[in-house]
Amino acid sequence: MEETYDYTVKLLLLGSTAVGKSSLLIRFTEDVFKISQHPTIGANYHNRMIEIDGKKIKLQIWDTASAELFRRVIHMYLRSVNGIVLVYDVTNRSSFNNTSKWICDIEEPLPNVEKIILGNKCDMNDRREVSREEVEKIAMDYGIKFLETSAKSGINVEEAFFTLIRDIMSRMDRKMNDCNPSDEGPVNISESPSNKSLCCCCCCPLH
Ligand code: GDP
Ligand code: MG
Repeated sequence: MEETYDYTVKLLLLGSTAVGKSSLLIRFTEDVFKISQHPTIGANYHNRMIEIDGKKIKLQIWDTASAELFRRVIHMYLRSVNGIVLVYDVTNRSSFNNTSKWICDIEEPLPNVEKIILGNKCDMNDRREVSREEVEKIAMDYGIKFLETSAKSGINVEEAFFTLIRDIMSRMDRKMNDCNPSDEGPVNISESPSNKSLCCCCCCPLH
């Protein structure tokens, strides 16, 4: 029997090499931390069905190699994503500088895609090079949510993904309401999956 779902959400992990993107993905999808990760080549994706607030979400998360290497082809991917997870390593100042550049790059063409900034490896506080306060300020200036995470300990990982996905769901709901202002009835998902990323009008990010 075909699985039904309320939302389809596509996320992209971006950040410099070795900030912990793949580790965050594995922590979120499998709830484990694998010490030796094979470096990501190009980009690959993981599918997962999750449930948030009683809604079923078909989730696809794209994991990328170094964002710097990825830069040339990024727009191909960015066009079809609903959310971007911008990751830096709190123990590596240059990874944060790169993330700040990405924020500017992405804001330009994608004002309508939800984003979250993650300062990963917060378990290594003694080797910290980037303060939480500094990033909080930048995140606030851009209106982007920010959390410090640890793929190693698991702290804030689920919260980070859930926060982003909830924001995406709200945005999709707003767009659906804009598309169907008079349609207030419930959607029967057994007849047609109410795949809210496939909206009927030209205002949607996928068009
Ligand atoms: P990616 O290149 O951004 O995908 O980074 P990886 O997930 O491959 O991780 C790079 C290195 O950082 C690996 O040795 C991981 O074990 C380590 N790492 C990833 N996340 C954390 C974390 O939260 N804390 C610590 N201490 N190490 C981490
Ligand atoms: Mg990787």
